[in-house]
Amino acid sequence: MKPVERSHKLDNVCYDIRGPIAAQARKMEDEGHRILKLNIGNPAPFGFEAPDDILKDVIYNLPTSQGYSDSSGIYAARVAVMQYYQQMNIQDIRINDIFIGNGVSEMIMMSMQALLNTGDEVLLPAPDYPLWTAAVSLSSGTPVHYRCDEEADWFPDIDDIKSKITSRTRAIVLINPNNPTGAVYDKALLQQVVDVAKEHGLVIFSDEIYDKILYDGYKHTCIASLTDEVFFVTLGGLSKNYRVAGFRAGWLLVSGNKRVAKDYIEGISMLASMRMCANVPCQSAIQTALGGYQSINDLVHDGGRLKMQRDVAANMLNDIPGIHCVKPKGAMYCFARVNAQKFNISNDEQMIFDLLNEEKILLVHGRAFNLQEGCYFRLVFLPHADILQPALTRIGSFFKHYRQH
Ligand code: PLP
Repeated sequence: MKPVERSHKLDNVCYDIRGPIAAQARKMEDEGHRILKLNIGNPAPFGFEAPDDILKDVIYNLPTSQGYSDSSGIYAARVAVMQYYQQMNIQDIRINDIFIGNGVSEMIMMSMQALLNTGDEVLLPAPDYPLWTAAVSLSSGTPVHYRCDEEADWFPDIDDIKSKITSRTRAIVLINPNNPTGAVYDKALLQQVVDVAKEHGLVIFSDEIYDKILYDGYKHTCIASLTDEVFFVTLGGLSKNYRVAGFRAGWLLVSGNKRVAKDYIEGISMLASMRMCANVPCQSAIQTALGGYQSINDLVHDGGRLKMQRDVAANMLNDIPGIHCVKPKGAMYCFARVNAQKFNISNDEQMIFDLLNEEKILLVHGRAFNLQEGCYFRLVFLPHADILQPALTRIGSFFKHYRQH
């Protein structure tokens, strides 16, 4: 029998958040080491429990959730999502504009597979949440990264976006609030993106999975609320705002200039029906989550656990000589720059590997977020402060001596 090899479709696909360094961490765990994993934004293992109502709802609905649902999702969940975006002032949305999926991840894949032909280009942020780049590549598209400017609170560089538009550009992707940088885009920036999309006939994909995780009074604007002249695909879900990443509950909303996108929307519908439906018991959590008390606010406001941890992480990182981190305004990550010259670093992956081996702390290197320049890492600030503090002290002592002899 010939060797069984992976498809060439995977040649340019990369998803390093759970890549080789995470595999090394698993190996070390098997050998008996305790690894502090600050690499994945998974709130539950750090004691961020889901609101009780959500759990009760899933348990209550379990006996009647044994069959497939409509492939777009159960009615109650879709109505709840529709109302959620109506409250954000998005005009003209109907129930058929909403597709419930197994997490935002599935909807990212579906949204790109339905859109792209070989060589079609999609503008993606650098740094990005790497599933977006992987989904474009796997769908035969060409990812083209636009610069987000660290000096400007990690906002997208509009001139860079404009300079990268070609006759093959189909869409622009925004992640707002942003993973990994924690940036929260204001209306003025979003309006500029809308203007570019309008001028060049581009679809805007907006991943807003962190839309309720905002600090310091920052407000979220759903870009699709700014105009109905552009075709928008907005994605959201329960994994982060409601701390139930394991439920795999997410959604996709089409809005704006839907007249130009009838064929594409039919394509999404076809892909949704090919996988039957999303996990049915957890779809029932969506209505309860969106309609109920928003306990996430208690975590992100002054005195809230997540905000305190954000402060500990950002402040302690900025106290380490040679490290700089723009304080995140949203989400659950610090994205820190390492002075590569000071530490004589040419490979940020090796740096994260060395940190893992020496301090038993697992982070993700900047290149994993498709950022090809500079030396960065992402740290998840989900652990309690009494775990984060000593971990950051250890990261500080690692950099005190790292490659400085
Ligand atoms: N989009 C972004 C920006 C994310 O950070 C993540 C997970 O970290 C996802 C999507 C995936 O979310 P889900 O759990 O809904 O698949």
